[in-house]
Amino acid sequence: MLLALVVVPAYAVEMEDVARDAVDHAGLLPADVAMLEQADFRWRHLQTRHFVVHYERKTFATRVARMGEQFYDAISGDLPALQDRMDPRRSHIFIFRKPRDWQTVVANTPGLEPWAASFVRGQAMYLQEIGRGKADKMSMLAHEMTHLVVNRFLTVRLPLWLNEGLAEYYGEFAYRRARGLTHRERNVFKALRDRTPLADLIAATDYPADPAEVARFYATAKQLVGWMLWKLPREKWTAFLTRIMAGERATAALLDTYGWTDIDDLATEFADFNR
Ligand SMILES: [Zn+2]
Repeated sequence: MLLALVVVPAYAVEMEDVARDAVDHAGLLPADVAMLEQADFRWRHLQTRHFVVHYERKTFATRVARMGEQFYDAISGDLPALQDRMDPRRSHIFIFRKPRDWQTVVANTPGLEPWAASFVRGQAMYLQEIGRGKADKMSMLAHEMTHLVVNRFLTVRLPLWLNEGLAEYYGEFAYRRARGLTHRERNVFKALRDRTPLADLIAATDYPADPAEVARFYATAKQLVGWMLWKLPREKWTAFLTRIMAGERATAALLDTYGWTDIDDLATEFADFNR
């Protein structure tokens, strides 16, 4: 694979520790506030422009706070038509240092796999502290960080393929940028041969039951988002998102904006790209 790598200067992110009384609760769910008030945790609070990180050990918290702002820049730059409806309120990130504490969080959160290392609920992310070299957990964090950022811009629920496709897409590319590498994303997109049929992908309201199909589903969603972003006119992407946010049905807005007569028509063009 030919990649153009450019090392960019270290990313400067303003951050400061704030006192417990200064933490903004707006946008938090009652469960999040309860977590903040648990006496078992000696939470400290690190604040950036868009995030407040609740942590016990600062090194990792600083990395996560910086990553949040880097993702924010990368993603918001691609969503010019959308407003950050949370601003000036911050999104929250809780970091759990002790494995036992994290296991308790996972056990008390319905719908999580036991090996989950992070998840997003509304405007809060819950995260297990990750050591260096845990590439699989870092990519999961990158995926969830995208959900946390994108949630700031949403006024409607996105279709599953678009929500997960964005998280997979930026989970890879914003993370690469965050590590100081800028890739020519346009050139990185190559054919994906093993795909979920688009009619199934676009109609899905729930994740596939078959674990083998889950990976294909995420990969296809990511490929579709990347193709729309990099191979099709950017103004159509912007128009499509604008129409969804205005409350139009996503599939109808997709076909009409891009000029496809139906999903078969879209699938044919997508298949040509992936040939
Ligand atoms: Zn996701």
